[in-house]
Amino acid sequence: MDRAITRLRAVEIGVTMKGIARPVGIVDPVALAGETIIRAAFPNAAFLREHDVHIGDAVALAPTNNDGPEIAEVLPSLRTGDERAVQMPYVCPRCNCDLRQSGDDLVCPSAGCPEQLSERIARIIAADGFNMPEFDAATVARLVATGVVNTPADIFKLRERELVRAGWGAAEARALVAAVERARNVSLDRLLVAMTGIEPAAAESIAVHARSLARVKRLVAGSMARLPNVGTLVAEAVSNFMREPRNRKILAQMARAGVVTARIPAGRN
Ligand SMILES: [Zn+2]
Repeated sequence: MDRAITRLRAVEIGVTMKGIARPVGIVDPVALAGETIIRAAFPNAAFLREHDVHIGDAVALAPTNNDGPEIAEVLPSLRTGDERAVQMPYVCPRCNCDLRQSGDDLVCPSAGCPEQLSERIARIIAADGFNMPEFDAATVARLVATGVVNTPADIFKLRERELVRAGWGAAEARALVAAVERARNVSLDRLLVAMTGIEPAAAESIAVHARSLARVKRLVAGSMARLPNVGTLVAEAVSNFMREPRNRKILAQMARAGVVTARIPAGRN
């Protein structure tokens, strides 16, 4: 397998559309698989701590199947003594939100993060979320590009007049606003899927246990993790989401825009 050894000069952080904050190493230029490499991603944020990565360390790069080379190994035996510790960032480079731990990853939990906007809207309109098939991928891309939608809450504030001003035809605009109108009443489990990205089975389990959004906000990750189909990672994802003040603000804006979350009646399970 191809590998190239070079030195790590800096660590930057990038955030993916799914909100995972991924450290990227800036390295001395090196040839790998016919290309000159100057940047390579780390597998995840935990890798830096687990391998005690230092600036100046010799690192081995390896190609990956999907997106560019990865830092596969750190070679502490090649240290010269001039290495210094890596300062991990604590905030999202796109929205300044505090990063939170989720398994081996650091994540930006903000539903208002511009990097994640398209992905979060895709989840909201999905069949297991608010189920708005009238919003196809092209429509979502256009809503974001025209600045009509800047946060997930904006979907629920769409007005025909505003859409027409941004270039939509009158009939199209009417159909989109009608779709939002139909989707406003949502069950708690669907709201959890749409907003936090967890699986429907886990969302249903949390919804049946908590029965209202207000009570989901108060659930601690430890007790949520013990519910059927949930587990630690899902519990962390929900708790990280609910603890973030920006997300509480977006949920409040959605409620003001008419989103009603049905309470699950007691005794259902
Ligand atoms: Zn962010």
